[in-house]
Amino acid sequence: MAEHPDQPQQTDQLTFQNPVTRYPSISPPVQDQPEPGLDARLIPGTDRGQDSYRGTGRLKGRQALITGADSGIGAAVAIAFAREGADVALSYLPVEEVDAQEIKRVIEDCGQRAVLIPGDISDPEFCVSLVEQAVEGLGGLDALVNNAGRQIAIEDIADLTNEQWTNTFETNIHAIFRISKAAIPHMPPGSTIVNTTSIQAYKPSEPLLDYASTKAAINNFSKGLAQQLAPRGIRVNAVAPGPIWTPLQVSDGQPKEKLPEFGKNTPLGRAGQPTELAPAYVFLTSPESSYVLGETLNVNGGTPSP
Ligand code: NAD
Ligand code: MG
Repeated sequence: MAEHPDQPQQTDQLTFQNPVTRYPSISPPVQDQPEPGLDARLIPGTDRGQDSYRGTGRLKGRQALITGADSGIGAAVAIAFAREGADVALSYLPVEEVDAQEIKRVIEDCGQRAVLIPGDISDPEFCVSLVEQAVEGLGGLDALVNNAGRQIAIEDIADLTNEQWTNTFETNIHAIFRISKAAIPHMPPGSTIVNTTSIQAYKPSEPLLDYASTKAAINNFSKGLAQQLAPRGIRVNAVAPGPIWTPLQVSDGQPKEKLPEFGKNTPLGRAGQPTELAPAYVFLTSPESSYVLGETLNVNGGTPSP
C-alpha cells in the first residue's frame, strides 16, 4: 500500500480498513430453507458482530425492543445495542428459537438483559401484547427497532396470490404501524424509533412487487411519523440496506440461481454483512443524532439512492 501523506504513521487494524476487502466477497452456493430461514443453517455463515463489535457506552441504560432480532440485521443490531449498554427485548417467530437463544447468550455475555418474546407480528393482537411484554420485561421502553420483514420472490404477477400480497403487507408495514402505536405511549422524550426499509423502496426488483411496495410505504410512514412525534421529543428514522447476506435470501427471498452472484453488482462488488448495518442503527438511536429526524440512511455498498 502506498504511503499517503495524511495517513497515520501507525495504522490501527480496527480504524483503517479497505471496505472492498474488509469482508470477503462471498459466492453462496444454491441452497433453500423454509420461511423464515435460520442463521444456524446458512452457508456461509454471517457476521453479526459477535466477535468484532466494540461498544463505547453510547446506549447505556437504554431499553430497546427489536423485531426480527434473532437473525441477520436484527441480530447484529441487538448485539451492538447490548455492547453499547442497552437491555434488549427480542421479537421473532417461535420456529426461530435456536437463533434467538444464540443471540440471547451473546447479549447476556455483555452483562445486559435479553427478553425473548416469540410470536407472529402479522397478528394485530400479538403486536399489542409484544409491546406490553417488552415494557414489562425491560421495565420501560425508549428505543424501538421495527426490523422484521418477509420477502418472497415471485417472477410473474399472475402467480402472486392475494394471500402473499396481504401477508407481506401485514408483516412488513401493518405491524410497524401497530407496534409503533402501542409503543409510543410508553416512550418518554428522547426515545427513538428506527424502521428497516430497503433499497427496494427506490429500485424495485421485478420479482418483489409486494415486498418493494411495503418498503416504499415504510419510508413514507417513517417521514410522516417523524414530523408528528418531533414535538414530543421522539425521533423516527429509517435504515435502507442494500444486499446483505442473511437467511431472508435463501428462504425464497431471491430466485435460487441468483444466490452465487448475490451483492456482486454493487459498487463495492460484494454483499454486505449484517454487522455492517449495526452502526447506522446505533447512530440513529443514540442522542448524538438528536437533529436527525425523518431520515433514511442508505447502507448499500454504494448504489446511488435518493
Ligand atoms: P432475517 O430473515 O434474518 O430477518 C427477518 C426477521 O423477520 C426474521 O428473523 C423473523 O424473526 C422476522 N419475521 C418475519 N416474519 C415475521 C412474523 N410474521 N412475525 C414475527 N417476526 C417475523 O433477514 P434480514 O435480511 O436480516 O431482514 C431484516 C430486515 O432487513 C427485513 O425488514 C428486510 O426486509 C430488511 N432488508 C434486508 C435486506 C437484505 O439484503 N438482507 C435488504 C434490505 C432490507
Ligand atoms: Mg430469523
